[in-house]
Amino acid sequence: MSSNISQNFPYSSETEPERAAAVEAALGRFDGLRDKVAAETTPLGHVAAEDHGAEARWWVWVCPTDDFTGRLHVAGYPLEWHGLYTVCDTCGSTFLR
Ligand SMILES: [Zn+2]
Repeated sequence: MSSNISQNFPYSSETEPERAAAVEAALGRFDGLRDKVAAETTPLGHVAAEDHGAEARWWVWVCPTDDFTGRLHVAGYPLEWHGLYTVCDTCGSTFLR
């Protein structure tokens, strides 16, 4: 597992469509990030759709690695950690929450 573990408090929250769009944008922007996330996580998709639908809200954190401009969005459930797997929309770093 190459991701960092960080314990900051959430910065804000976002809806499922907002989360999905932010993660998709990040995965499309950084080489290899999509494959890394796919290899290290279980997708959220069916859980969000079945349990919460479009009204689901997800936490957003501030990325600690790029002058606090990046936001960490939930990208999936980590395979080897009980929590959430997040990706930064600005630098492409991944963090476990
Ligand atoms: Zn970042």
